[in-house]
Amino acid sequence: MPLEQLPLVALQARKAFQTGRSKPIDFRVQQLKNLQRFITEKQKDITDALKKDLHKSENGTLLYELLGLEGEINMAIANLSVWMAPRPVAKNLLTISDEVYIQPEPLGVVLIIGAWNYPITVTLQPLVGAIAAGNAVVVKPSEVSCHTAKVLELLPLYLDPEMYPVVTGGVPETQELLKQRFDHIFYTGNSMVGKLVMEAAARHLTPVTLELGGKNPCYIDKDCDLEIACRRITWGKYINCGQTCISPDYILCEPSIQDKVVEEIRKSIKEFYTDDPKTFIDYGRIINQRHFKRIIALFEGSTVAIGGENDESQCYIAPTVLRDVTPESKVMQEEIFGPVLPIVPIKGVNEAIQFINEREKPLALYVFSSSNKVIKQMISETSSGALLANDCLIHYTISDLPFGGVGNSGMGCYHGKSTFDQLSHLRSCLIKRLGMEQLNGMRYPPHTAEKLRLARLLLLKQVSLGRVRHLVQATTLIMLAAFVVLLFPPAN
Ligand code: NAD
Repeated sequence: MPLEQLPLVALQARKAFQTGRSKPIDFRVQQLKNLQRFITEKQKDITDALKKDLHKSENGTLLYELLGLEGEINMAIANLSVWMAPRPVAKNLLTISDEVYIQPEPLGVVLIIGAWNYPITVTLQPLVGAIAAGNAVVVKPSEVSCHTAKVLELLPLYLDPEMYPVVTGGVPETQELLKQRFDHIFYTGNSMVGKLVMEAAARHLTPVTLELGGKNPCYIDKDCDLEIACRRITWGKYINCGQTCISPDYILCEPSIQDKVVEEIRKSIKEFYTDDPKTFIDYGRIINQRHFKRIIALFEGSTVAIGGENDESQCYIAPTVLRDVTPESKVMQEEIFGPVLPIVPIKGVNEAIQFINEREKPLALYVFSSSNKVIKQMISETSSGALLANDCLIHYTISDLPFGGVGNSGMGCYHGKSTFDQLSHLRSCLIKRLGMEQLNGMRYPPHTAEKLRLARLLLLKQVSLGRVRHLVQATTLIMLAAFVVLLFPPAN
């Protein structure tokens, strides 16, 4: 699509939104069902595309890209009426007879900018929540996973094409879109571009969700079952060839267990990917030669303990472990986002915590320990988007856990109801009747000490009404009115 047409695409989405047709629940549910139909009917195209983009196996794509998405769609359809409904809040005595609630409403037009590593999931999961929340959406898949982007171009055949246009293309297209006015921008990708997105959004005071990356530390305590710990870490690290935003980026452990950690990871690599990962169906490839070269350059100055074999013509890098890595080494200066796992020896949990706190707040932090004390210490003395003890990645599967970063790893969160809330405006509503004006006397000038005393009484008391709501409300109201009339008799 020519660049000069992109402002029109955003405008057309806004016009579609302004018709109001995305607001009724039936429309939203129908669009979500259509999205599910897209996934079902285009499953083969999707798995073929991901095979070409990232060498993902068919079952790997079904498991890691489509299963979670289907779960999110089902959840949204099943819960939408509850999510959309007014949410009553606790009142004070002054507003006890009023209707007070939060009404979620659509924001307007949302721009979703996807990344390439899980190109279906990171693009369509925000879309589920955006549709559920009643927004129009401009979808911009990553150009880097070009085969998947081609399949995503077919979305408008299933969804309302004016309400949910798809724009494919590269950086110029994204930059042109970022010049347009949106009501929310949902970006997944690296932190550097995240800053550009936020800068562009600031020009229109557009709120952003930034799902970014960074280095996820993985602390292994010496008192833990190293066989199980390393098996789970190996899975979390090498899935999708290490190109997972929440994969463990590096290991911190005491020197005394380093040899055993290396051996256990070696065993697990063999178990998962055979002796020859290069020919194994479930071992992926680096997305392109630019990233291949970037990752190979990270080996510089470090000792390879496992793997290291590579083949640029296929963008293949074997599952690799680097040992005795120093904090100053090249591999520790940026997010690896590839199948390379450095081990940085440290003296124990206190030094691990210090190491983590001296760096940017990670998207995920992993601790492996059989000591609850160590786990709780890690939770209370560090910060990260998520913390997992004795496992990796699996928090991603729980829709009720908000997924997102903190600090340099991002802002805002999504999954399940969180996506709906993130892409809604939670509007505060208060509906008062025009009667009972006596009750308001204490807020009008002159501000006497008596009125102040009454204001304290009425405002500092929170009232949460349950089943006996109306009875309590009526009684309180009558008592209150009588009390106020006593204090401030009407002038004749
Ligand atoms: P990418 O290169 O596909 O870029 C993402 C989008 O940004 C693309 O649509 C692209 O067009 C646009 N873009 C790139 N450069 C731009 C520029 N200069 N100006 C405007 N737009 C630009 O993806 P990536 O950044 O390589 O993705 C990998 C990163 O994403 C990693 O850091 C990873 O940790 C992170 N990530 C985070 C999550 C999460 O949920 N937090 C998920 C996946 C990936």
